[in-house]
Amino acid sequence: MEDYILFQPSVKPIHKEDEEDFWFLFKDNQLMVYEGKGNITIPRQKDVLDLNISIYNIQCMGAYSGYNCQCGEFVDHIEEENISFMDLRTLSEFVDENIYLMASKANLLLNWLKLNQHCGICGSKMYIKDSKYERAMVCSNCGNTTWPRTSPAIIVAITKEDKLLLARNRQFPNRRYSVIAGFVEYGETFEECVKREVYEEVGIKVKNIKYFGSQPWPYPNSMMIGFTAEYLDGEIKVDGEEIVDADWFTKEEVQGMYKKSISIGSQLIEWFLEKH
Ligand SMILES: [Zn+2]
Repeated sequence: MEDYILFQPSVKPIHKEDEEDFWFLFKDNQLMVYEGKGNITIPRQKDVLDLNISIYNIQCMGAYSGYNCQCGEFVDHIEEENISFMDLRTLSEFVDENIYLMASKANLLLNWLKLNQHCGICGSKMYIKDSKYERAMVCSNCGNTTWPRTSPAIIVAITKEDKLLLARNRQFPNRRYSVIAGFVEYGETFEECVKREVYEEVGIKVKNIKYFGSQPWPYPNSMMIGFTAEYLDGEIKVDGEEIVDADWFTKEEVQGMYKKSISIGSQLIEWFLEKH
C-alpha cells in the first residue's frame, strides 16, 4: 500500500502515535525545519516534544511512509541553532518532491482553517466537524458547511516544430522565462482555459492539447494542471501587461535559459529538452 499510495490522507491518525511522526509547523507563514550537514529535514514528534511550544490549529493530515503527519501553527520564540524557517518556494530547492508536497498540503489546510473562522452566509462562528471520515467546517448557527478547496490553473508547453514557446512575465525576477500559465475561470474547461490563456497572453492559436500532469501550487491554494500543445496559427503578440516578451526557442537556447526545479513548469521544459 505505502509503495503504491505514498501519502494516505486522513482526518484522524492512521498509525499508532510514534516519536518519528512528522510535524509540519508554521510560524508567520514559514515552515519550521531542521538544518544539519547541508540537509533540510522536517521535525519529528520527538523533536517537537523537546521544544516546549504551544501549537494551535493542529490538524492530522494523514500518513506518509508509515508515520502520521500532523500540522499546526505556533508563535513562541525558539532559539536553537539547527532550527530555521522557510517559505515553501525556498523549501522546494532543498527537499524531495514528496516532502515538498506534504508541506504544501499543510499550508493549504492551515490557510483553509484561517479563512473559514466565520460563516460566509450568516457570519457566525464555524467549527471543525467532528468526523472520522470527513474534513469540514460547519457553521454553529445555520449549518453551512465548507471543505478544503483547490483553485485550478493551467500550465502549457507549446511547441512549433523543434522550438518551444517561452514567455517572460512582468512579475518574474531576473528576466526569467517560463511556459504559459493562468487561472481557470469559473465554469471553464481546462482545454478552453489553455486556448484562452495562450491567445490572451501571446496571441497565437494551439492544437493537440494533451494532458501532461498536475502539481499542487500552494500560493495559496492552486493546482497546476499541465498540458502540452502544438502551434496552430498566428503571430506572437504579447499583451504587454502580464507578458512583456515571448518567443520560440531551440533546445540549445532553452538549456541556457532556465533553472531546473521540482515545479511542473520545469518538468514541462525537461519534457521538451528530452523530446527534441
Ligand atoms: Zn452560518
